[in-house]
Amino acid sequence: MSNKFVEAITPREENFSRWYTDVVLKAQLADYAPIRGCIVVRPPGFAIWEAIQSGLDRRFKETGVENAYFPLLIPESIFTREAEHIEGFAPEVPWVTHAGTEELPERLAIRPSSETIIGTMFARWIQSYRDLPMLVNQWCSVLRWEKATHPFLRTSEFLWQEGHTCHETEEEARERAVQMLHIYREFLEDVLAIPVISGVKSDREKFAGAVDTYTVEAMMQDGRALQAGTSHYLGDGFARVLDIQFLGRKGELEYVHQSSWGVSHRLIGALIMVHGDDRGLVLPPRVAPNQGVIVPIYRDDSRDRVLGEARALREELAEAGFRIHLDEREEYTPGWKFNEWEMRGVPIRIELGPRDLDSDQVMLIRRDTGEKEPVARDALADRTTDLLEEIQSGLYRRALAFRKENTYAASSVEEIIEIMGRKRGFVEAGWCGNDACEVEIKEKTGTTIRCIPFDSTEDPGVCPACGESGEYRVIFARAY
Ligand SMILES: [Zn+2]
Repeated sequence: MSNKFVEAITPREENFSRWYTDVVLKAQLADYAPIRGCIVVRPPGFAIWEAIQSGLDRRFKETGVENAYFPLLIPESIFTREAEHIEGFAPEVPWVTHAGTEELPERLAIRPSSETIIGTMFARWIQSYRDLPMLVNQWCSVLRWEKATHPFLRTSEFLWQEGHTCHETEEEARERAVQMLHIYREFLEDVLAIPVISGVKSDREKFAGAVDTYTVEAMMQDGRALQAGTSHYLGDGFARVLDIQFLGRKGELEYVHQSSWGVSHRLIGALIMVHGDDRGLVLPPRVAPNQGVIVPIYRDDSRDRVLGEARALREELAEAGFRIHLDEREEYTPGWKFNEWEMRGVPIRIELGPRDLDSDQVMLIRRDTGEKEPVARDALADRTTDLLEEIQSGLYRRALAFRKENTYAASSVEEIIEIMGRKRGFVEAGWCGNDACEVEIKEKTGTTIRCIPFDSTEDPGVCPACGESGEYRVIFARAY
């Protein structure tokens, strides 16, 4: 049996970052593009993105959101209208200046986010309170010029969705922002099996142009935090500069209150870093493009019999609603195939050989634990249902236990430094609410406030920087 794939992946303990890159490249999720900071999402990676996309898209639409598409290019005069927004994005915005050899009369920004272009259109479409709420989402890519590339986590161009909504009141817009954050949380936990902490960003960490940024934060296996999704209450700031006004119920012109919210293909990075192991990717069944793979094992004299049965089995499982692949490739050995599908994270492997046929059974192997079990042929569909559920919930429980084991309390900067030096993770501590303390902690420990959890008010503890009693209990961590 060939161990070539397994040997090619750097163990996590040795170098987590290299392990991550190995999994991305060897599982063919992505490859480096010949453009600075860009990746190519390859078919196995894109299939995961499509599964994420369809799951979220359905959830958005259930709340009344509709999809649309806006231009990639934003005229400078529109892009620069909201001061904080342009200030936040300015260093990473690429500009289009020429068409052929001719210089354009106005520079065009390649969108880093679409608040300004979408808001400009909202201003045309919204006249009265009867036009509200307006709930629009677009699936697209955006560009933010990055110095260093980390596949899926930080790339110049990335795939995402951005939702943009307009409402009559602050209350409604905030409700929408929180509602969408809860959709992200539910999707991450129930489908991606990734436990998250939801809460609010500090002013320093919030989105450029937002009044408040809500976030879901997940812990990776190296103890670092990954911001998995954000949702913003934008207030009426964009509405005022873009003139998004409506005739209100009292007959007066009012500015709309807005929300925007997004997740990106960094969720694929989160899946890798939360569930993966030294053999490669481990995919939760609900998001896995292939939930199971059938590997037939035969010699020349049993080939037809085994393959015939394997095809019937695939048919049967597909009809029962499972996403099952039959690996019929002749040029690879079963051992090679085992390693390859393990590396690609397929939740269940089904082995089928002549002896299995004789005893009317198949062998099931779980990707997450490696456990093998023989299953009677006629019980296979039922057992597969149960096993996929066990894997799904097992992955979530394992990730949650890991986060708990790697979450520490601290009441001084020294303690945070000690925790970060010994073993990275989340640090729960009080925070007085002062920006100066946040900056000091960041400079001395390399950690940032990931969020002020929604349930943070009870007994905040002291601020590690100033020692005053905290206003909030917050999560500090190093982050991707
Ligand atoms: Zn303080």
